[in-house]
Amino acid sequence: MNILIVHAHPEPRSLNGALKDYAVQHLRAQGHAVQVSDLYAMRWKATLDGADRLDRDPDARFDASLDSMQAYEGGTQSADIAAEQDKLRWADAVLFHFPLWWFSMPAIMKGWFERVYAYGFGYGVGEHSDQRWGDRYGEGMLAGKRAMLVVTTGGWDSHYGPRGINGPLDDLLFPIHHGMLFYPGFDVLPPFVVYRTGRMDDTRYARTTAALGERLDALWTQAPIPFRRQNAGDYLIPQLTLRPDVAPGVSGFSAHTA
Ligand code: FAD
Repeated sequence: MNILIVHAHPEPRSLNGALKDYAVQHLRAQGHAVQVSDLYAMRWKATLDGADRLDRDPDARFDASLDSMQAYEGGTQSADIAAEQDKLRWADAVLFHFPLWWFSMPAIMKGWFERVYAYGFGYGVGEHSDQRWGDRYGEGMLAGKRAMLVVTTGGWDSHYGPRGINGPLDDLLFPIHHGMLFYPGFDVLPPFVVYRTGRMDDTRYARTTAALGERLDALWTQAPIPFRRQNAGDYLIPQLTLRPDVAPGVSGFSAHTA
């Protein structure tokens, strides 16, 4: 299988760097082909702007969606964006390795999503009408591929528990899992999380990599998070609310998981 690792940490000798190196080595040893987008090492441009469209009229008003669509359709996207899209087409599974920074991914990785998910590639795919609201939330360009987050946190697991002060980690990751991965079609696996990284030593590191290895071995067999598909009957279209008979009385993030 083909696996893309998108990695966001500025220090190669960090815990995240070590876990990324471990994953590459482990996956290759199992016979998989691996590519790594090491965003800091690549000096990835995090900001979406007019320079992302090579044939843009510099006097024209920049429209983030329209310019993205025209550049994608016209083959005039900047080369770094097109190269990442090619890697996504190539991949059967994508791993996103990052430290939790301010309850989300580092800005450089957010910028990867903003720029690589062009209009026509990450969104704006499929028919948009009163009957059908595009190929998204379970359908889209990345359907049939798997995705998994490998996340490290300074906070303890209890801080992210059901009554923990930080809020449940599943809720914090919902915008990434549901909004950024399920949206363009990925099957999203439960995340691999390393809590309380300040207490890492060699013994715990060995346990952590062994556990990560097991998760990598299960990339193709583990059940994805059962998000409800937009176009499979659970939602009213065009309101895009759950039908009254689906999960009655349930609201919030958990309502969108079967
Ligand atoms: P490192 O700092 O590189 O390492 C962590 C520990 O692992 C160290 O003790 C190190 O010695 C050890 N280690 C590293 N490599 C190895 C190895 N190969 N073998 C054995 N031990 C090793 N945390 C939260 O919970 N929520 C937040 O919202 C949050 N926001 C943050 C925002 C910012 C801007 C920053 C800088 C930190 C934030 N943190 C937050 C903490 C952050 O999530 C952790 O610092 C991070 O996850 C640790 O990962 P790292 O790769 O940087 O670890």
